[in-house]
Amino acid sequence: MKDHAANSWEGRADAHNLYGFTDLPSVAERGAVVLTHGHGPYVVDVHGREYLDANSGLWNMVAGFDHPGLAAAAKAQYDRFPGYHAFFGRMSDQTVMLSEKLIEVSPFARGKVFYTNSGSEANDTLVKMLWFLAGAEGAPKRRKIITRKGGYHGVTAVSASMTGKPYNEDFGLPLPGFLHLTCPHYWREGRDGESEAEFTARLARELEDMIAAEAADTIAAFVAEPVLGAGGVIPPPEGYFQAIQPILKKHGIPLISDEVICGFGRTGAVWGCESYGFVPDGIISSKALTAGLFPMGAVILGPDLADRMQTAVEDAEEFAHGFTASGHPVGCAIALKAIEVILDGDSDAPPLIHSARALIPLFEAGLAQIAQHPNIGEVRVRGLMGALEAVQDKATKKPFPGDLNISEKIANTCTDHGLICRPLGQSIVLCPPFVMTEAQMAEMFDKLEAALTAVFDAVA
Ligand SMILES: *Cc1c(COP(=O)(O)O)cnc(C)c1O
Repeated sequence: MKDHAANSWEGRADAHNLYGFTDLPSVAERGAVVLTHGHGPYVVDVHGREYLDANSGLWNMVAGFDHPGLAAAAKAQYDRFPGYHAFFGRMSDQTVMLSEKLIEVSPFARGKVFYTNSGSEANDTLVKMLWFLAGAEGAPKRRKIITRKGGYHGVTAVSASMTGKPYNEDFGLPLPGFLHLTCPHYWREGRDGESEAEFTARLARELEDMIAAEAADTIAAFVAEPVLGAGGVIPPPEGYFQAIQPILKKHGIPLISDEVICGFGRTGAVWGCESYGFVPDGIISSKALTAGLFPMGAVILGPDLADRMQTAVEDAEEFAHGFTASGHPVGCAIALKAIEVILDGDSDAPPLIHSARALIPLFEAGLAQIAQHPNIGEVRVRGLMGALEAVQDKATKKPFPGDLNISEKIANTCTDHGLICRPLGQSIVLCPPFVMTEAQMAEMFDKLEAALTAVFDAVA
């Protein structure tokens, strides 16, 4: 690492932090960005520089960085009852109310909720529930989990095993029994002459074949993001979930929708599964659940899984699982307020989901404009999540050489222009907060365009 002055924020950040998910050469070169506060969709660093955050923090700060209603809900709950657990038959009133609300806004007529501190832990908890069920229902072999390459489900040993990313090899993961299907990315994975519908049919056959090869009674669940997020914003090909779900149903395999990013309006509907016209057997939620103001995740079980878990737990008399801060009253109070702000609107403000929907056409138009660029191979978009994939050659889809770190270069140049966006593989990801104004969205595209032009001119 380059030495940043020991008494600078950058040097102090280097001295005592092990950076996670960070391109170290970029930090060595440029120094960490140390932030002090934010307003609306902007964040401000220790040098007073302001950045338009086109990623809503990490997909989660949908209400921006200074929402008064959310902060007030947190403060009020800290004053009233600042902490409690959800063990031993005790829980806070806020926890009871949030679970009611989550079932009400879920696609399920009824169901049950279990809280965690993160999306990773929610996926981990889901897997433990399924393993618990397998034991209780006399099907001890039913432990395998199917996900897709490029899918992101978290970083704990189990949820990282579900994540279909090559970096997991660095950890000797996945654990045995975690199976990964082809990434449902038509532009990259579709074969020459294969239509999108044929691609979908091939993926469905691949699932059938995997179930046959592994034996259906060894598979505990299929878990999928409606739109792959950290895989680079990849919407499924046409008819994907309609092709997959009947196969799973036939074999009695639950379909779990990992809605950690899609949940609460990101795709324009409340849930991603709603956008794609399917009702899953369970939902994983986090990120926008508290609009990023509190670490919280939730497993939401639909009627069938909720009933089976209830029976299994009654037989065992206890589900020996939970985190000290599961169902934390402050987290629950914030989540209740976040759901109100997003879905119902608070005070005089319209629901943020309406603001998000109103922004979608502008977002799509801005991305379509940038797609004209000769070095942009594909634009992917669903709701307010989008990605631009850089290519060296548009006709052959040939990527830039990996050692060029093209997306890092673009993101770093964006940062120089006062715009935060995320490099992901050869893509640049945009995930604007719902509070962005039309003018701020125009500013986002202007800055992105300037950065793209500068980088592509330099490497051409
Ligand atoms: C972020 C994410 C997770 C993991 O959530 P953490 O809170 O970071 O543990 C799981 N699934 C999806 C789809 C995510 O985007």
